[in-house]
Amino acid sequence: MVIIYGTRTVFKREGPVGTSVCPNCRHNVMHTLCRQLNQATLFYIPIFSHQKQRGIMCESCGMITPVSAQEYRERKQAAKMYY
Ligand SMILES: [Zn+2]
Repeated sequence: MVIIYGTRTVFKREGPVGTSVCPNCRHNVMHTLCRQLNQATLFYIPIFSHQKQRGIMCESCGMITPVSAQEYRERKQAAKMYY
């Protein structure tokens, strides 16, 4: 029997946090609150995930600026107001 086991990285977008100047590409663009998860898969089915990084992603270059858990919660609350 062959066991297909693997890992993958998934992105979850929580919502926009507004426009600001990206420290990397210097463009004044929309930034999105996101988190990166590492998922372990068995036969391509995710069995568990583990949070790798929380951050704010630049929509222009894709660079993620890490944020603290506290800041992440505050930003997430603010992001909900856009919807
Ligand atoms: Zn950028």
